[in-house]
Amino acid sequence: MRKLFFCFAKKAIIISFTIIFLVACDPSDGNTTKTTDQSTTQLPSDPQDALVSIGLDVEDAKCLIKNHPSDVQYVLENPDRIFKNLPKLADDMFVGSSDRGAAPFASFVSILPTWDKDQIRQFKKIFGRIVFVVNTQKFESAFNNNINLLNADYEGKLPYPENYEVFRDQANKAMLASNNHYKFYMGGGTDTTGLAYSMPAYPPRMPDLYVAIEPQILELVKGYEHNAASLILHELTHTWGYEHAGNAENTTLKANNIPYYVQFIIGTNAENPAAKVEPYTPKALLEVYFGHTLD
Ligand SMILES: [Zn+2]
Repeated sequence: MRKLFFCFAKKAIIISFTIIFLVACDPSDGNTTKTTDQSTTQLPSDPQDALVSIGLDVEDAKCLIKNHPSDVQYVLENPDRIFKNLPKLADDMFVGSSDRGAAPFASFVSILPTWDKDQIRQFKKIFGRIVFVVNTQKFESAFNNNINLLNADYEGKLPYPENYEVFRDQANKAMLASNNHYKFYMGGGTDTTGLAYSMPAYPPRMPDLYVAIEPQILELVKGYEHNAASLILHELTHTWGYEHAGNAENTTLKANNIPYYVQFIIGTNAENPAAKVEPYTPKALLEVYFGHTLD
């Protein structure tokens, strides 16, 4: 059986046990951007529908159109965007312990029989945010500007990309090879550590791309609301073939490898993904676009 990856949440911050839905969309991302947006943006006739069709929920779509129209335009007009062939997560992707793909996870985490509706809704909302953020110009710039942080010693089987374009194309290629079909599992058990797991898309390819998360990573903790989304992106990069190979001490929570690199760009600090994790991450791209929920 192919190797599993253990992916630790950014910090041991999973302390709340109430699921609170993400509702915020931060309008405070600077008037400068807004001014520029208004003078240059030509959105599609129905940008809200267009955003929803690529996975955003209605509320997030409205907030993005209002506060970040030029970014919306940039994402929607890119025919090569990541997830271009995976427009929206289908309900049949959320599976339980009876699914054939659950077995490989079983030695690491106890897979729950099924997802509940709130968990699915929450996950879809988070996923939609990931779809948007990784296709923004800000992400692309952050990815390229900090690329020297990556250390090829830890790349494993798939070489680290030299730039965003290579990363983007690899992501779409890997998803296409598995028919753009994910299977998401909910893990449980007594050890509530806030972890997520995934299996890489190496030949011989499996028919689907597999990700398992523990339910508590969906929970929001004040100051760390973007923890789940950034960790889930980390997992997705594993399904695209990227690893943090070698000694875990050298790679866990380090920006020297692709999974943590992109996790920190969107969840910690886009200007410096190696920066220390802080609460209320003002320079994290998820914070820029979606703000905070629990203020
Ligand atoms: Zn990992």
